[in-house]
Amino acid sequence: ASDNTAPAKPEPGLLGRVIGGSAPRRVLDDDMLEQLEDLLIAADMGVDTAGRVTANLAEGRFGRKMSVPEIKSALASEVARIMEPVAKPLPLYAARPQVVLVVGVNGAGKTTTIGKLASQFRAAGKSVMIAAGDTFRAAAVEQLQVWGQRAGVPVLTAPEGSDPASLAHDALVQARTEGVDLLMIDTAGRLQNRTDLMEELAKILRVLRKLDPDAPHNTLLVLDATTGQNALNQVEIFRKLADVSGLVMTKLDGTARGGVLVALADRFGLPIHAIGVGEQIDDLQAFDPEEFAQALIG
Ligand code: GDP
Repeated sequence: ASDNTAPAKPEPGLLGRVIGGSAPRRVLDDDMLEQLEDLLIAADMGVDTAGRVTANLAEGRFGRKMSVPEIKSALASEVARIMEPVAKPLPLYAARPQVVLVVGVNGAGKTTTIGKLASQFRAAGKSVMIAAGDTFRAAAVEQLQVWGQRAGVPVLTAPEGSDPASLAHDALVQARTEGVDLLMIDTAGRLQNRTDLMEELAKILRVLRKLDPDAPHNTLLVLDATTGQNALNQVEIFRKLADVSGLVMTKLDGTARGGVLVALADRFGLPIHAIGVGEQIDDLQAFDPEEFAQALIG
């Protein structure tokens, strides 16, 4: 890397602001590495991952005199290297319907993400159906209907408080009959009552697999970037509840320090299928590791 490789970001990120300083060149010594590690931790990367990233940074560079842009660029490359293997769009299968189960705690952005995904798939010429599986929250069902309308996609609902597994069953049968390409199933996110939720998700999975041994083809966990390190716990929990196959990280448009994504990639290696960058229907993007790393490091 040369001195000219500083990220072309007008807004310096957290690290950029702090290590920016005035000295034209810094020695990459233990003291500098420790400072960088602290900054990565402050950016929500977690202790383990921050340690790994700075260790990788030091490899072959320790004791070297580097300009601040060089350090930032090297650090961004190390972050991007961790993120590249997990940047994968949602895989599409020949299966019809492809069943996508969407899980996550309430407020993470499940409903919004389902709406945005439905709109993207529609734009790609796929037929889509949505099942409003959070039958205990009338507001969630209504919200999903609004998103369905926006995306031009039918939303299957069931009476309030009825069995979500029964709705999932009926939805898959109907999606089959109608030759729908993609069936997205919303689920409840009441983590306060975990045993309940566990049973509910297990039953949905059982019912789906009875109809199609490969269903659900994807189980998307939606995570809210503003919850920081909490996202790691949520992955642990939902992996046990529902065999998560990939992630969507929402609310990366806000002030969230997206460093937790690096920790997630480092710890779990689960694909990041998309990121939410706003509340509108088009605010869902493919995850770009380079861009993300540069924005994070600044
Ligand atoms: P659910 O309870 O998991 O279904 O969450 P919702 O989809 O209802 O989202 C909760 C709140 O987060 C709503 O106010 C959404 O508008 C908002 N939201 C969802 N995704 C994003 C995002 O990517 N960026 C921002 N800024 N807000 C989001």
